[in-house]
Amino acid sequence: MRATVMYGAGDVRIEDVPDARLVEPTDALLVVTRACICGSDLWPYKQMKPTEEGRRMGHEFIGRVEAVGADVRTVKPGDLVVAPFAWSDGTCVFCREGLQTSCLHGGWWGGTDQDGGQGEAVRVPQADGTLVVLPVGEDDALMPSLLSLSDVMATGHHAAVSARVGPGKSVAVVGDGAVGLCGVIAAKRLGAERILILGRHPDRIALARDFGATDVVSERGDEAVERVRELTGGLGVHSVLECVGYEQSMLTALGIVRPGGAVGRVGVPQHETLPAAGPTFFDNITISGGPAPARAYIEELLPDVLEGRIEPGRVFDRTVGLDGVPDGYRAMDEREAIKVMVEP
Ligand SMILES: [Zn+2]
Repeated sequence: MRATVMYGAGDVRIEDVPDARLVEPTDALLVVTRACICGSDLWPYKQMKPTEEGRRMGHEFIGRVEAVGADVRTVKPGDLVVAPFAWSDGTCVFCREGLQTSCLHGGWWGGTDQDGGQGEAVRVPQADGTLVVLPVGEDDALMPSLLSLSDVMATGHHAAVSARVGPGKSVAVVGDGAVGLCGVIAAKRLGAERILILGRHPDRIALARDFGATDVVSERGDEAVERVRELTGGLGVHSVLECVGYEQSMLTALGIVRPGGAVGRVGVPQHETLPAAGPTFFDNITISGGPAPARAYIEELLPDVLEGRIEPGRVFDRTVGLDGVPDGYRAMDEREAIKVMVEP
């Protein structure tokens, strides 16, 4: 079968790899019908040291079940399913607490020893705990929004939940990528009264406004902090969604959260330590977040997608076949595309 392999920064290839197959009785075998490129795939695309063996890529996908192992109960051949960006057994102590990303028997797609979503097929470990059956056909118009549940919409929601967004709250979203835009959707869905988006790309800002952003802050760094303070009577916002991962974006988030407020961080941190230990202590700031337990959120968000209350699939602005994946990475890295969908 063919799949995406990254060999180093800027070096993404589509290659023949060993066919995905059932190994454990708890596995399912999926033919991928939709996948996508993630903002977090751009970290290795920028930084990965050259390797001989390469790394399989992709952790967001929808597929048709081809075969299941003897112990699989909840999915069957022919089902259309969405996979969250981590697999999980659904039964361990952390899964039962709704934190499937910490599953004792879970793991992550891709790398050197697992299939990735940016390919023709995937072996899914722990199929019962991982996959969610979709009640639609594989070419349904809702496909982009359903695909977003595998990561970006779930991650935007996790940022909002971690930042304790609720009715009447003021919210700022740091980052206008696909996750930040989904964070705007999540904040509105959870009842935020005011939603500030920090960003400057006209197409992304327009989408953010459509999704419910009430104010746009296009300044950066200290000037952005000053502008948010101006807009909030000098106080700052109740909730900040940090959807980037740079030290500078975290500093901005900590600079605009008001005393007693919370920062939900979902951008993979590219720095070792959290800044501003002193000010966040004296202002009683909560800093929360991490990888979203997408498996839990898929079930929570799915009815809103199926019934058209949210349209996170609008973050996809380009579709490619498998051969177009390397150029899709380039387009996202150069901010020519917000998010690229793959039809293998
Ligand atoms: Zn588990």
